Amino acid sequence: PATLLDALQRHVEIRPDAEAVVELGGERLTYAQLWRRATRVAGGLRARGVTQGDRVALRYAAGIDWALAFWGTVMAGGIAVAVNTRSAPPEVEFVLADADVKADLSAGTPLPDGDPYVAAGLATTDVAALFYTSGTTGRPKGVPTTHEAFVTNAQNLIRCLGVPLDAGPELRTLISVPLFHVTGCNAQFIVAACLGGTSVIMPTLDLPRLVTALAEERISFVVTVPAVYSLLLRHPVFVGADVSGVRWLAYGGAPIAPALVRSLKDAFPQARVINGYGMTETASLVTVLPDRDAAAHADSVGYAVPSVDLGVAPIGDDPYTGELVVRGVTVTSGYWRRPEATAETIADGWLRTGDVVRVDGAGRVHIVDRIKDIINRGGENISSVEVEGVLLSAPGVADAAVLAVPDEVMGEKVGAVLFGDRSEIDVVAVIAHCRERLADFKVPQYAVVVTEALPRNAGGKVLKNRLRDQVRWGDP
Ligand code: ATP
Ligand code: MG
Repeated sequence: PATLLDALQRHVEIRPDAEAVVELGGERLTYAQLWRRATRVAGGLRARGVTQGDRVALRYAAGIDWALAFWGTVMAGGIAVAVNTRSAPPEVEFVLADADVKADLSAGTPLPDGDPYVAAGLATTDVAALFYTSGTTGRPKGVPTTHEAFVTNAQNLIRCLGVPLDAGPELRTLISVPLFHVTGCNAQFIVAACLGGTSVIMPTLDLPRLVTALAEERISFVVTVPAVYSLLLRHPVFVGADVSGVRWLAYGGAPIAPALVRSLKDAFPQARVINGYGMTETASLVTVLPDRDAAAHADSVGYAVPSVDLGVAPIGDDPYTGELVVRGVTVTSGYWRRPEATAETIADGWLRTGDVVRVDGAGRVHIVDRIKDIINRGGENISSVEVEGVLLSAPGVADAAVLAVPDEVMGEKVGAVLFGDRSEIDVVAVIAHCRERLADFKVPQYAVVVTEALPRNAGGKVLKNRLRDQVRWGDP
């Protein structure tokens, strides 16, 4: 299929009565119903003056309205702007102004309704949506995503998961992550639409509800971030739960502790467990670690997906370690109205990911760190991801983040923020634990224990800028 509408329409024709979108505790729509209602949203948008290429803000919580607004916008020939509804009001205002929206669809206002309309002659290279990056390292940037990027990303994922192309209605995915980021939208919602499967949307994350939905909704494909899996496996309702229907289980968005991957393999023995690495700028997937490698190479994000070329721009002497650069039809051609950021990030079709990687002898990619999070201690580069991994394996540490602490002599030193019960974390023991496992210069010189969970965004990533403002280091 060429465009998103071609992909959807195929299933409307083949299996009109199959379930397309379900909202847990809400409405259920078949492919035929979804198509019909979305064409009326499209008609309503056209009546409001939306034409080809106009931006339409989607400000619904994840659910049926979001799905109808998305497809309605695409049918109108517009560009769906996926607004992070959890943002503070000024952040939302920033996105609405930045995207320069023609229509603002938000909760509390009824969806537009009009005469059925479906734009004719959409091109695969037309932009269908604008996603904003998570804003982990700075202000969020708008990323135009084409029809071709959406469809190709879905094909990549379907191949990497080993989902049979005729699986159709057997692919039922539980969407518990936001639809305004690429994981929920591109790697689940669009994948289900391209296969003729079902998106089961959970408007707000609720672990007990998630567990019962797995069996009740016959979920076969689960995707979420490491932090949620970690909570899930430790939750009492998970004990003895029926998860036998889960055939594909994916995680990604942030680094995961290898021990957690092994626990996932044990907890879902009949599922293919895969790690997906990607970003907003690549319409989601860049690399995938397949199930056969999941346990043995849990520290890796795997191999390039079919449509993406990888390159490493060396940082030091080692040609296999450096910034990952990527190219292909799923890679955006530039940020929305940010020529400077685009020029800094993309050259000759190659996008700088901002992630430092190491490629091993088997061609597997390992994320070393984000360039901005690498700590430079007197000329030695230290990966905060590596140190965080060791801290997480220390007794009593429930969560950990590593930050650079400015130092007059060394430039930067390593600081550890440890989250957990004060009575269970023994800082001296944690540092001893690090000494046994890390080179001297990587061992944190500063450590603080916090009893409030680390600030994370919807993608499960620690907001280091915010954390930096919160912690007071005290003496080394
Ligand atoms: P911003 O670009 O605004 O600072 P962001 O990079 O966090 O925000 P996203 O596009 O949502 O916004 O996240 C992509 C980043 O997430 C990647 O560059 C990488 O650092 C991290 N990431 C994604 N998947 C994985 C994974 N499987 N393992 C480790 N890190 C991952
Ligand atoms: Mg980024």
